[in-house]
Amino acid sequence: MEQKQFQAESKRLLDLMINSIYTHKEIFLRELISNASDAVDKLAYRSLTDDQVGMSRSDFEIWIKADKENRTLTISDNGIGMSKEDLENNLGVIARSGSFQFKEQLDQAKNADVDIIGQFGVGFYSAFMVSDLVTVISRAYGSNQAYRWESSGAEGYTITECEKDQAGTDIVMKIKKDEEGENYSQYLDSYQLRSLVKKYSDYIRYPIKMEMEKSKMKEKPADAGEDYQPEWETYKEVETLNSMVPLWQRNKDQITKEESDAFYKERFGDYASPLISIPVNAEGAVEYKALLYIPSVAPYNFYTREYEKGLALYSSGVMIMEKCADLLPEHFRFVRGVVDSPDLSLNVSRELLQHTRQLKIITTNLEKKIKSELMKLQANDMEQYKTFWKAFGPQIKYGVVGDYGANKETLRDLLLFYTSGEGEITTLSQYVSRMKEGQDFIYYAAGEDTGRIARLPQAERISAKGYEILYLTEDVDEFVLQVLTEQEGKQFKSVNDDDALPESDEEKEEMEKRAEENKDVLAFVQEVLTDKIKEARISKKLISHPVCMTTEGPVSLEMEKYFKMVGGDEKGIAAQRVLELNPNSGAFQALKAAFGEDREKAKTYVQILYNQALLIAELPLEDPSAYSDMVCGLMK
Ligand code: ADP
Repeated sequence: MEQKQFQAESKRLLDLMINSIYTHKEIFLRELISNASDAVDKLAYRSLTDDQVGMSRSDFEIWIKADKENRTLTISDNGIGMSKEDLENNLGVIARSGSFQFKEQLDQAKNADVDIIGQFGVGFYSAFMVSDLVTVISRAYGSNQAYRWESSGAEGYTITECEKDQAGTDIVMKIKKDEEGENYSQYLDSYQLRSLVKKYSDYIRYPIKMEMEKSKMKEKPADAGEDYQPEWETYKEVETLNSMVPLWQRNKDQITKEESDAFYKERFGDYASPLISIPVNAEGAVEYKALLYIPSVAPYNFYTREYEKGLALYSSGVMIMEKCADLLPEHFRFVRGVVDSPDLSLNVSRELLQHTRQLKIITTNLEKKIKSELMKLQANDMEQYKTFWKAFGPQIKYGVVGDYGANKETLRDLLLFYTSGEGEITTLSQYVSRMKEGQDFIYYAAGEDTGRIARLPQAERISAKGYEILYLTEDVDEFVLQVLTEQEGKQFKSVNDDDALPESDEEKEEMEKRAEENKDVLAFVQEVLTDKIKEARISKKLISHPVCMTTEGPVSLEMEKYFKMVGGDEKGIAAQRVLELNPNSGAFQALKAAFGEDREKAKTYVQILYNQALLIAELPLEDPSAYSDMVCGLMK
């Protein structure tokens, strides 16, 4: 018989399972039952549209059989089963879901004392935590041939033909011998197994059955004398171990946080508990129940095309779709969960389903519910809300700018921004509530990080007035403000804008005078930097710094950087740059003097000032070594 090798990744995972010192080995049962339930789901769904299946919902079940003598534990289902190819592909290769994350965490946690196994849905392989030999006997629905897959771990596995009279799968585990500190025999004890099923798999929608050994008092014989001692006898009885009521079908107050979190982790393959869970029980135009979750960390592929949004859709406990994308608006694509409505017809084809009126109503209501729960979190627990923001803030911002701003009013209140004000992070309405007497605008400045923005020369005069500044650190931030245009009637204003602060007539006159006085020097600066800047001007913004770069027109420097990034090398949209000079600075005075005495020297000064403005704006220098030479040339 040919022995086949596991794929490298699977082998590693297996080694880990076999040698695991993990204390929560009991989760193997949950994992196998969950697989069995998925397999039954698949056939149950098929039976709705395909009469050939010849089974009704009540025929489906999962069995647990414990054989103490032979030390075997068997989990059986009459679900869809696996063909030879399925056995090969599904059990010989590391499981798809969660495996990538698992491996990543594994690499990171290699030396750390972290229990990661239990945090992941590691599925089938977990059987090896408690058994030396795993035998899978499976017959795929629609096939007459069954196959036996067998493995005792790392050496590999074999697949042979065998007999099985019904479609479905038996997983037979040869339970390990007890070791010091490890009581494996408990997994052969029916009472222990029953309590594990209750703990982890109570909501599984198909009956999980097991023969329980029970005892009862023997009937008192008619001729029993005075000194009759009651006798006991044991008998066997099949019991359904789970209540089968899905978590989302229960009342809110009947779901504990532990149950809810455990369900989330198991169902959605997350290792972290969700940030919040949102149970919904709706009656009205459409009746439905839903259990939604906001994850506390973004899935590793969340910001890629690979991530699929959607909620699981059920009709009266029967799954119709694993991921119904239409149930979630794009801006809330991070939400996970299930929706169950008796009003949805199971016989509608999946495509048609996407257009039903009921679904639209559910989607709209869920969107409102998600928003209101997030607002509640923001109001009651800002620390937790920040965790949400860290994971999914970018998605909310994309939501604002996407669809030509169609969703901006829904999302506006959810936005957070870094700020120069108290608390370091703020909502827009909090900002407005803190605005000073006489402050007309909501100020913002963009840059790489908050520290750098805080040091921007042009921000100084705004801060000097005691006005708060929003720090825009992400590319999308400026677009967000552009789309929003205002908050509670207050316009957004860049600290770069010349009219950022109101000017008195005297101030205006003063500026004009200054510009006039320095007309020649400014013309000279502009000439030296002909194709680099649109204009050189006397700055209204600078207080202690000599120079800065600002822009004119709708494209800012940050936007230019963004367009460069997304547009590749092409000559994209460029900002119109303005070099602003502080006439009170020593540097400007030196430039002015040089302009009068030595034009070559003045040219060098202009270049230095220009390059410094680039540096402050975090723009690349065109020729760093030439710049360095110029600066060093001053050190004589
Ligand atoms: P996951 O369930 O996360 O995909 P597993 O390692 O648990 O990963 O299982 C791998 C695959 O093997 C499953 O996706 C499924 O296709 C198949 N499988 C496992 N158990 C069964 C079963 N009892 N019946 C049918 N298919 C199964």
